[in-house]
This record gives sequence, structure tokens and C-alpha cells, in this order.
Amino acid sequence: CSIIGYLGDISATKILVSGLKRMEYRGYDSVGVATFADSQIRVKKGVGKVEQVNTKSNLHTLPGNIGIGHTRWATHGGVNEANAHPHLSSPGEIAIVHNGIIDNYKELKEILQTRKYFFKSETDSEIIANLLQYHFDATQDVKRSMIKTVNELKGDYSFVAVFSDGTLAAARFHEPLIVGVGKNGYFISSDVLGFIEHTDEAIYPDNGEIVIINFDGIELFDFTGSPVMHQVTKISKEF
Ligand code: GLU
Repeated sequence: CSIIGYLGDISATKILVSGLKRMEYRGYDSVGVATFADSQIRVKKGVGKVEQVNTKSNLHTLPGNIGIGHTRWATHGGVNEANAHPHLSSPGEIAIVHNGIIDNYKELKEILQTRKYFFKSETDSEIIANLLQYHFDATQDVKRSMIKTVNELKGDYSFVAVFSDGTLAAARFHEPLIVGVGKNGYFISSDVLGFIEHTDEAIYPDNGEIVIINFDGIELFDFTGSPVMHQVTKISKEF
């Protein structure tokens, strides 16, 4: 229901948990975060409110300055820990959080299962992690695996992925996605409330665009892979 991502010089879970709390008004049933540190992606998630899950599972103990977070409003699969986001790809090299619905997840899942990618949840969203992984295994390239993946997904989505080289990648298709640009790093969120306490400067990707962020900076592409440019704009004072 809300997605968030961060890459910068502050502990990621602080940013992610406080951003998710600010977006609680959007409604949700489960919460989770994943961070990248020491070449490894670690996930913690659970059913309940942000504060409850944070207290029970110590979300804030995950190390690293790169991460993603989610509050889930279940559409496919019951409300339980396995179905909570983030979802890891089957070898665990990519984690994703997703807002929306993937209509063709069953077909894609069957294909990937025959190619030995396995699934741990009942969600439509988990397909994004394994599809990215499948294309990443073939290309070893974040941008190319994002382009191939978005062209195969049908449905409405915004998602953020963290790759095990520390890259953050996001895509927007009929669901909201905003990038905050601050002194302490980059923020990706469903809503400016997710990062407004850290920066009032933002990039608004259009529908059908991909965002790739690492410590070299940010790049945006359309779904064919052509670069797109956006101005960094000031968020209006109402927030
Ligand atoms: N369809 C996904 C699920 O049920 C994502 C729902 C959401 O936007 O929170 O897990």
C-alpha cells in the first residue's frame, strides 16, 4: 500500500520506519523492511502496525544505508508474515516492495518455476523479485533486467528493488512514485510524506518510467530504455 526506499549516508531503517509511519493514513495490514550491507540483503517483516512490528521484530537493527520498506494492503494471499513485503528472489540477491496488482503473475510464476526459481508466498508481488532475478542472471545488468521485467508485467504497480550490488531501482505504472533528493541521500516513496522531514526537493517520474539510483547518482529511463530528464522541483509548502 505504501512503498519506500532510501540510499544515502544515514542508517536506512530509521528513514524507512519513520517514513512508513507518516504514511500510515493510507491503511495497511503488514509491515517490512530490507536493507543492503556487506554484500547481503536482510529482511524483517510481520503482521501489524509499524510500531508493533518494529518493537517485536527490531526492524531498526538491520544494518546499512540502503534499503526498502513497505506497508501492505493484501490483495493476493492472506495476511501473514510470508506474504508481507519485502519479497526476496529465490537466490536472495534481489528484494522488492510492491504497491498494486500484477495481473499475469500466475503465468509468469509457472514459467519461472520450470526454470527452478522457487516461491515462498501466495502474493502476486513475489513474481517481480524472481523475474528481475531471472533477467539479472541472464544479463548481470540492473538496467536491462528492469527494462525486460517491466515489459513482461501486466497490471498496475509501483515497485522498488534493492540489488545485491547496492543499487536501488524503481518503476512506476499507474501507481504513485516520487523521488526525494536531499543532502543525506535519495528517497523513493508513494507519497511526499514518506520523506518530507528530510527534504523538500523532489523528482516526479511519469507513468511508464524507471529510476536507478546508486552512489554515482540517479538515472531515469522510459520502458524502452531511453533516458528521460526531469527537473528537481520544490515541494509546495502545504505539506
Ligand atoms: N498485491 C500485493 C499484495 O497483495 C500488494 C498490495 C499492496 O499494494 O499493498 O501483496
